[in-house]
Amino acid sequence: MLKFVVQCALQQGKSQPTNSQEQLLKDFPTDIRSVCRAFDIDPTIVIYAACPKCSFTHKSICTTSGINVYPSCCQYVQYKGQRSCSVQITKQIVQNGQSVHSPIRPFAYQSFPAFMAGLISCPGMEEILDCGWQGIRKDEISDIWDASAMRELVGIDGKPFSIMVKGEAHLAWCLSVDWFNPYYNKAARKAASVGSMALTCLNLPPSLCYKLENVYVNVIPGPHEPQTDQINHFLQPLVDDLDLCWTKGTWYLRTHLHPGGQQVFLALCNSVNDLPGARKTGGGMGTSGGWISPSTQPSAVLQVRCQQYRHNCESIFHTL
Ligand SMILES: [Zn+2]
Repeated sequence: MLKFVVQCALQQGKSQPTNSQEQLLKDFPTDIRSVCRAFDIDPTIVIYAACPKCSFTHKSICTTSGINVYPSCCQYVQYKGQRSCSVQITKQIVQNGQSVHSPIRPFAYQSFPAFMAGLISCPGMEEILDCGWQGIRKDEISDIWDASAMRELVGIDGKPFSIMVKGEAHLAWCLSVDWFNPYYNKAARKAASVGSMALTCLNLPPSLCYKLENVYVNVIPGPHEPQTDQINHFLQPLVDDLDLCWTKGTWYLRTHLHPGGQQVFLALCNSVNDLPGARKTGGGMGTSGGWISPSTQPSAVLQVRCQQYRHNCESIFHTL
């Protein structure tokens, strides 16, 4: 409408529009995409090509023409000396008039440091995040911050993680992995399973912690839940990002409270899942793996598995 008003105003003079006026009308934003570009609202995302069979995620190579190139077949070798999986992972599509290979099962990974940059750039957010550590060391346990595990958490430098030097921020995060049926859970509907990897910042109070704009989410593509250790392929990019943020921290050139820059360290403090999700995320055996026939399994294996099972249950109990 604004473009139309400007166009009408320019035609009032009854003279031919000049080149600059024509350019002004041509460049006039017409939809929400211009706003998203101007404010850099879109998340920073890397598209991986996940294998439909083994779930291995392949990174693309960006060509000079800006087109992402993926291998046509899965290159994952599970054990040394084995042949690669070789299942087709791309299909041909036409993009900008060119025939390109596009992933059959795309996995969109959101950059975690980029998400954090958006979070700490919000006015007022840094003050709230810094307040998280102030509530600890209480006799009465009413929140995760009162738990001894949080108080005794040691950082990469060997000092308590709760102690920050000037110009640093220490954030505690919680990971949650779960699967759901995108067609709802009705028996007559199609059975499928899509996963979510969600990270919530424990420094935020509960009223802000679970707000959609403050939760970091990646979607694990379906149509079925990845089996046992296949979840590792989807967790790998996140683990790499978290590892760097824990060991070296991330330096942000400018934040709302620190125009001269700030270094942010983070710790993944706990993982909240249902039992199958906890087993997969923690690298444990499946939920049906608690029972082992004593006649077919050596007792040592049974003992180790039982210990692992008990450890898993304890960590879930403590988390809850
Ligand atoms: Zn594969």
